[in-house]
Amino acid sequence: MGRLICVGVIPGPKGPKRLDTFVSPFEDECVSLAYGIKTFDCTTRDYFPLRGYQLFFLADIVAMEKGLNIKGHNAKCPCRSCRIRAVNDPNSKNKTYYVPLFHPSGQTAWDPKNLPLRSHGDWCRATRAIENASTKKDKEAIAQKTGIKGMPAFSRVGSLNYARGMPWDFMHLLFENVVKNLFNMWMGSFKNLTSENEDFIIPADIWKKIGKETVNAVKYIPSQFVRSVKNLVDDQTTMNAEAWSFWFMYMAPILLKNRLVEKYYRHACDLVTIMKMCTQFSITREEVDELEEHIIQWVQRYEK
Ligand SMILES: [Zn+2]
Repeated sequence: MGRLICVGVIPGPKGPKRLDTFVSPFEDECVSLAYGIKTFDCTTRDYFPLRGYQLFFLADIVAMEKGLNIKGHNAKCPCRSCRIRAVNDPNSKNKTYYVPLFHPSGQTAWDPKNLPLRSHGDWCRATRAIENASTKKDKEAIAQKTGIKGMPAFSRVGSLNYARGMPWDFMHLLFENVVKNLFNMWMGSFKNLTSENEDFIIPADIWKKIGKETVNAVKYIPSQFVRSVKNLVDDQTTMNAEAWSFWFMYMAPILLKNRLVEKYYRHACDLVTIMKMCTQFSITREEVDELEEHIIQWVQRYEK
């Protein structure tokens, strides 16, 4: 945190609708820095143009969607990294879109090793197409098809790659989404989608024990490793990302053993391995390739 410079705070209670208008003063500075600021070098006793460029944009998923000016995670083309299409169940009342690799009809499938990746130019092409469309309806159709609403914020200098310079937010993606969803599935309370007799549901009396064992175990774990974790079976509102990550990575493999059906248990442990690799302090090129393979297999097995 010591190396962060706060350039501004946007007060709530509502989030900004158009982030580009809020970051305009910051972009002015970026433009000046790209031209070069006259700076004195005391070693050569001469002036030189000091330049600086913004290379990344870090944000949670929702803020990133605003920054990139995209339709976002509930859209038909929801991903900021690839052009994968979302589907929903036409027979269900719930019209939420999701992005399976295998279409439920079984007719189409995405190749996870060869996803249609977005490129930096996608934003310019989509924006131009939207500008050239004559009716509001046509403009909306392009935005819906491409998932892009217009040029992103931070577009004046051109130092950012919109497709590749936007790292994903591991905390929300994994700890606050995937882990929480798995937990709810095993509880039998996942978005009202699970029926009572699914074999991945752990019976309530065993969950009771898991809750108690969690609380009892955390009592003896030094706070350097994790803050107190409450009984997550009774109440998940106090579970933050840190609690979810610790519970899932270090406690669940023990608490769920012989309680969750073996194939789901192994699948959960595979995710633990993935998460541990992702949170290593350093990672080699070979490990990144290995990780890619692991993640693809994990998603494919999840969909089965
Ligand atoms: Zn994607």
